[in-house]
Amino acid sequence: MPADVHVIDHPLVQHKLTLMRKKETSTTSFRRLLNEIGLLMAYEVTRSMPMHEVTIETPLETMKARLIDGKKLVFVPILRAGTGLLDGFLSVVPGARVGHIGLYRDPRTLVAVEYYFKMPSGMAERDAIVLDPMLATGHSAVAAVERLKETRPRSIAFVCLVSCPEGVRTFQEAHPDVPIHTAAIDRELNDHGYILPGLGDAGDRIFGTK
Ligand code: URA
Repeated sequence: MPADVHVIDHPLVQHKLTLMRKKETSTTSFRRLLNEIGLLMAYEVTRSMPMHEVTIETPLETMKARLIDGKKLVFVPILRAGTGLLDGFLSVVPGARVGHIGLYRDPRTLVAVEYYFKMPSGMAERDAIVLDPMLATGHSAVAAVERLKETRPRSIAFVCLVSCPEGVRTFQEAHPDVPIHTAAIDRELNDHGYILPGLGDAGDRIFGTK
């Protein structure tokens, strides 16, 4: 039984996603909306983080209160489109560490090829959250998580904005232990590896490179 797929259907997330999907949305607006959605998704994704009790002094008395467990979280954007979600996540958890995984899709085979990998120290005590706006074929996500598992983080979650049934299936087959958080599961993947209806090429839309 694979880990859950959590669809974040908060009205603010869905509203902003609709604006991002529109082809006439400018690069500036697209980037700002992705930032805002990142912030909202970070709030949802961190909802079940383990906590522990500590004793603190308020100005009035001593109390037991809760803090998040373990070392600082690590956000792991998959280059390059994953960095579009990063600022939103960091605005909710400013102390988080950031690891990077550089992968490109071979345009012919659609297979993911690694060109960069850098994680912070102490991964065994960290919860890793992998960021990529699109879960399309699933090849990049599968390869990124496979590589990340070599560093043995305490837990891994995968966050994307838009996914499709093919990508979810491929990811769950490879990593049944890793939950997926997404704002949408779209209809299908086309022959060029694009999600339909989708929002186009996320990297190009974030960076204005089309
Ligand atoms: N990557 C994108 O940016 N968009 C898609 O639709 C699929 C993969």
